[in-house]
Amino acid sequence: MRLDRSAKLLQRAERVIPGGVNSPVRSFRAVEDSPPFIARGEGPYLYDVDGNRFIDYVLSWGPLVLGHAHPEVAGALKDAVDRGTSYGAPTELEVKMAEKIVEMVPSIEVIRMVNSGTEATMSALRLARGFTGRDKVIKFDGCYHGHVDSLLVQAGSGATTLGMPDSPGVSKAVAATTITAPFNDIEAVRSIFAEEGEEIAAVILEPVAGNMGVIPPVPGFLEGLREITTAHGALLIFDEVMTGFRVALGGAQELYGVTPDLTCLGKVIGGGLPVGAYGGRRDIMEQVSPSGAVYQAGTLSGNPLAMTAGYVTLDIISREGVFDSIVERATALSEGIKDNLKKLGLDLPMAQVGTMFGFFFAGSPVRNYQEAMGSDTKRFAAYFSEMLKRGIYLAPSQFEAGFMSSAHRVDDVDDTVRANFEALKSIL
Ligand code: PMP
Repeated sequence: MRLDRSAKLLQRAERVIPGGVNSPVRSFRAVEDSPPFIARGEGPYLYDVDGNRFIDYVLSWGPLVLGHAHPEVAGALKDAVDRGTSYGAPTELEVKMAEKIVEMVPSIEVIRMVNSGTEATMSALRLARGFTGRDKVIKFDGCYHGHVDSLLVQAGSGATTLGMPDSPGVSKAVAATTITAPFNDIEAVRSIFAEEGEEIAAVILEPVAGNMGVIPPVPGFLEGLREITTAHGALLIFDEVMTGFRVALGGAQELYGVTPDLTCLGKVIGGGLPVGAYGGRRDIMEQVSPSGAVYQAGTLSGNPLAMTAGYVTLDIISREGVFDSIVERATALSEGIKDNLKKLGLDLPMAQVGTMFGFFFAGSPVRNYQEAMGSDTKRFAAYFSEMLKRGIYLAPSQFEAGFMSSAHRVDDVDDTVRANFEALKSIL
């Protein structure tokens, strides 16, 4: 595999863009490699500037549930461009989009569009604080909610460690409003609430963690959070930026039957354009400006191109059989990988929830961040590089999810399973 042109582009990029990339994980530093620069995407494939073709399981980090340049999405976008790219004024399309999401996501009665997942979680937290009149928020170690200051916080040791900033530039005062707990540990949350429940505005989590590898909630965890937050008058916020329209059409809340007060969305609802959204209970959402006093705004929010790509994407995946077929293909891939692991005598924990999947180079089950951190990242890096050589584009980190799209065909999955076997065998 030649990467000459990509290597040259990276050199140019590094002179004018921090680390050469506009979002850190793209740099491939976690796998001590350098990234192919992409020229185009088509269906399940990415093509780089050196002419290499990859089967893509990153899919722009989740959004492209229909694959690249889906003809219906692309066609609708071309038509939309001719009608103008932004008005900063209300459109019928925004109403249709809101109605579609309200229809699909069980807990959402009212929804506000924003421009990224980060904006969605930031706004949902402001709303939760405004609604409850409380300041503190509980998040879970290893859950990522975008680069919101108060959420760039990870645990120190112990379940109730008060937040310390994870990044220079996040003030101690802001970080101190964030309390972290281990994912899947309901008792830790119970004891935090027992101590300072009256000060806690909200609990926010990825209901299926997807930013420390794929980690499903253990039975009772989501239900327990619902019960505890209700008992203490705190809000339960599901960050379904990744899991929305991915683990089930109605997100994790539909799959597990647990109803949050607020939900954050992004990725799939933009169909590959920059979008986020937050929504939920009517009485809470009515506190958002201009119907309420919690201020939140956006020049490009509800942008007609983003709404077009998102609406068409949601429309297509809600057609009979489409979503199920993506899940079926993700299951075929996961089963293929599990078979390979068995044949090679490797007992590695693997998870698949709907169209998301991943496995850890770890010797025992992974239920939280600490266990995920026990993975052999050197081995992952070797595996990743062997897969890339074989034309399979995975996220360049052990702690990211894999995604399936409707564009991946049986042949693509078979090729991937074969590559997986050879790659694993070569690094044993
Ligand atoms: N929440 C979750 C669960 C995410 O996975 C991400 C992005 N990977 C975000 C929030 C932030 O979204 P964005 O990158 O669009 O700001």
